[in-house]
Amino acid sequence: MTADAAAPQPTRQPRPVEEFGPGSVTVPPPGDPATFPALQTEIRELARKQNAVILAHSYERAEIQDVADHVGDSLRLSRVAASAPESTIVFCGVSFMAETAKILSPSKRVLLPDIKAGCSLADSITVEQLRSWKAEHRGAVVVSYVNTTAAVKAESDYCCTSSNAKAVIDAIPAEKQILFLPDMFLGLWLQRVTGRKLTIWLGECHVHAGITPADVERLRQAEPGAELLVHPECGCTSQVLEAATDDAAFGGAPRKPVHILSTEGMVTYAQQSPAESFLIATETGILHRLEKKAPGKRFVPVNREAVCQYMKLTTLAKLRDSLVLGQFEIDVPAETSIRARRALERMIAIS
Ligand code: SF4
Repeated sequence: MTADAAAPQPTRQPRPVEEFGPGSVTVPPPGDPATFPALQTEIRELARKQNAVILAHSYERAEIQDVADHVGDSLRLSRVAASAPESTIVFCGVSFMAETAKILSPSKRVLLPDIKAGCSLADSITVEQLRSWKAEHRGAVVVSYVNTTAAVKAESDYCCTSSNAKAVIDAIPAEKQILFLPDMFLGLWLQRVTGRKLTIWLGECHVHAGITPADVERLRQAEPGAELLVHPECGCTSQVLEAATDDAAFGGAPRKPVHILSTEGMVTYAQQSPAESFLIATETGILHRLEKKAPGKRFVPVNREAVCQYMKLTTLAKLRDSLVLGQFEIDVPAETSIRARRALERMIAIS
């Protein structure tokens, strides 16, 4: 299913996570916080002995972020994975991220602490669906968001992240048709900022699609002095942008500008902005990173329920077990890996 570039943004309701990925996932309890320091010490020692680097996405639990060598978004962690000198990469994130690390560092051992850590967005397009879509649009350039399986990347011309998606679209000759997948909200936002007509796949992340314009409006009314930072995967993005330019719709009162940013962009913006308060429209794990990187500032989630069950599967105990037992080792077939790598290297080069 695809969206015509000129079509209005579809209205979507959040869908239960059980519809996606490797079956239902149950988020485990974090364990007793009093045990965290000892577990973190044990993990650091295991990583040192095994020559392992620990990477954690910004949506991971706070105690996982705190024990990692590097925390960041997909683009930042991809770069680290590609250049890390260690022989083992432990990826505290979801499966497409560990696959990406393996593709970029094929000679290294890549471990994912919980094999059920999938992604509803990556699951919204299969490689068979992509092949059919390409057959309908011969000659088009395929740009895939990094939240895709290795097989889908292998069928793509470019990968991108929310940090560099605009630069990737800008780099493609204007006369070329672009198939953009799988996130429709990111695709709609890209159309707006690039001025390019895109052919967009109607995929979504169930977490970001659940952050609604009503959530945003409620918080903006309650916190008129706060700056609003929105991830482009959010279901609210297009409507928020419309509202941001329409002061008359809110009684003519001037409104704070909206900033559409990747998670790394949010961190940088919050550090540099003179503002003291921010409304954050993305997965709530980013709040821990924001509070660490911009101490003394106040961050309010637009939707407290915006929690990725897949990201929260990784606990300190599972990370420790991953290092002790060498589980779960991620592999990507050589032919898929070579083809996917081309698209990923273009992504890394353009940013
Ligand atoms: S927050 Fe959404 S896009 Fe990110 S890993 Fe979770 S399901 Fe996938």
